[in-house]
Amino acid sequence: MEKVITTHSREETQALAQKLGASLNQGITLLLIGDLGAGKTTFVQGLAKGLEVQSKVNSPTFVIMKEYQGKIPLVHIDAYRLEGVEQELGFDDYLEHEVVKVIEWPQYLIDNLQDFNTITFDRIDENTRQLTFNFKDDITL
Ligand code: ADP
Ligand code: MG
Repeated sequence: MEKVITTHSREETQALAQKLGASLNQGITLLLIGDLGAGKTTFVQGLAKGLEVQSKVNSPTFVIMKEYQGKIPLVHIDAYRLEGVEQELGFDDYLEHEVVKVIEWPQYLIDNLQDFNTITFDRIDENTRQLTFNFKDDITL
């Protein structure tokens, strides 16, 4: 499924993500592709709300991975600092339990991005973002 949605504010992006988060099943992985400031972490905050995560979600850039309790646990990975790191990091082994996984900068962690559920964020102007959803799994949007 491919779908393009344009949002006009941070709140609109979060509302969209919240709706998606509320409908996600455990075991789903979403890869968030886009430049700094494109809206990836903003999207994760909305997703977390939809998953009924109570704690505040912010960018885990300095820890790479954070797990949040919700109706389904949310694992938030930001691979930004892994640019140029070549070794296999074994995230897949670590995350065998049933969670929703969302990964910023997945290109530093995964080779075959096209085989995954991806959301590509493009900054159009200060408050406008174009989100291109490319879902392999059966996810309602
Ligand atoms: P990233 O994680 O991709 O680096 P962030 O989500 O941290 O990006 O930052 C996005 C920034 O863009 C925030 O300051 C947010 O308020 C702003 N913004 C403006 N318009 C939008 C929009 N339509 N959707 C998402 N964020 C937006
Ligand atoms: Mg971010």
